[in-house]
Parts: sequence; C-alpha cells; structure tokens
Amino acid sequence: MLVDYHIHALGHQGGSYTRERLEKFFNAAQVQGIFELGLTEHDDYAAGVDRKVLEQAAASFPRLSVKLGLEISYWPGRKKEIAAFTQGLNLDYLIGSVHHINDWMFDHPAYQAVYAEWDFTRLYQAYFELIKKVATCGCFDVIGHFDLIKIYGYRPSEDIVALALPALRAIKEADLTVEVNTAGLHKPCREIYPAEELLAKCYDLSIPVTLGSDAHSFNEVGRDFAYARHLLFRIGYRKIATFTQRQRFLRNL
Ligand SMILES: [Zn+2]
Ligand SMILES: [Zn+2]
Repeated sequence: MLVDYHIHALGHQGGSYTRERLEKFFNAAQVQGIFELGLTEHDDYAAGVDRKVLEQAAASFPRLSVKLGLEISYWPGRKKEIAAFTQGLNLDYLIGSVHHINDWMFDHPAYQAVYAEWDFTRLYQAYFELIKKVATCGCFDVIGHFDLIKIYGYRPSEDIVALALPALRAIKEADLTVEVNTAGLHKPCREIYPAEELLAKCYDLSIPVTLGSDAHSFNEVGRDFAYARHLLFRIGYRKIATFTQRQRFLRNL
C-alpha cells in the first residue's frame, strides 16, 4: 500500500487551504495509486490549515484516506515552544526536521556559500548531532529527510553510516520512524533521503519507515514512489508506517 506522508499543499506561498488547492493534491494522489495522503505544512504556515475546508475537500475523495500532520523545524532550545504549540492540535503525526545549523539555513540555495567554511566530516557530525536531539526531544513521530545535509552534494570523506550511527541508535531507542523522502532525487545530491546504505542500517536496527514525496506542488505527489518501493523491498522492508492520532500502524508495503 502506497502512502505519501510528506505534502506541502501550501507550498512556500502560505495563504490558507481552499478546496480547489487541496483537490488538486487529492486528485494527483489517486492518479498515483496512493491510498493515504498526509498533509504536513511547515510549522510557519500552520495558521493556513483550515480543517473545515480540508474535511469538505476530503469528502469528495472517499477512497483516499487523508491524514493531518505538520513538519516542524527543530533547533536546540525550541523543545518547549514545540510542545506548547502542538499541544491540543489533535494531529495524526509530527515530522521533526533539521533545516538549520546554528543560524544557517543550510538547505536554502541562497546560503550555499557557507559550506565552504566547513570541514565536511565536522559538518555531518554537527548535523547528525541535531538529528539525535530531534529523536530524543520527545516531540516527534517521524524523522524528516534523514540526511538532508547532503542536499548540495558536499560529502564527507568518512563513512556515512559511521557518522550517522549515533543518530540512528537514538531513533531506535526513541522508537521513532524514518521517512524515505524522494525529493532528494531532484536536488543536486541526486539521491533519495536517506541514502541506500543508511536505509539498510535502519533495516538492520529494525527502525520502521514511512514514505513521502515532500511535494510543494500537486504534480510532485508520489514522485518516484515506484523506485522508492523497489528500493525498500530490495533492502528487506515489507511494511510501511502510517499514523492516526499519533499512533503508529504498520501496513503491508
Ligand atoms: Zn523539510
Ligand atoms: Zn517538507
């Protein structure tokens, strides 16, 4: 069963949900053979999530199960704010993502020059240290784009699995889910998040996975899912995680 658990129907434009906007995403999901679609706006745009409009739009697609989550940017010191902000929101799941190292938004194309200031092994260590904090902070269900730090193709000389292992162990310990995110295939790194060797390590550690396109436009819904599913099967995965009211359910892939 295919699910797309990482969707930004508001893209980066903000505004509010409208039926027209949502129905384009729901229609695309059905065309792609997706049974469950999870909307996960960036936390900055959470105010634009209109549940009434969402329910109305979803009612026109009875064969599609629509879930509501959020993608939240984590940085140290933000835990209390996140807990307070998400309390009582009644969401199906929360994706915790790292997009900043100190004040640097490392995945934004405008700030790419900052990579030159780093030793890449040190950079990856700093990034995975933050992922470890996402896992241990107790706020989240899913780790978003696990190795996003590779987005522009800057790679460490050291073994990536060794660099990521403390973060993966923390994820296992916290019983969280790792998202397989196909957006990386369309970024300069040209690789799925997480990379195959990291995904294999997730499998070794019995960490469940879910699947997301990180679509910011309806025509990106379910993008490259045939590839992702094949990769997961090859590694050994047969189940995929879905969420309802912050509870995880493993379904056949
Ligand atoms: Zn993200
Ligand atoms: Zn996203």
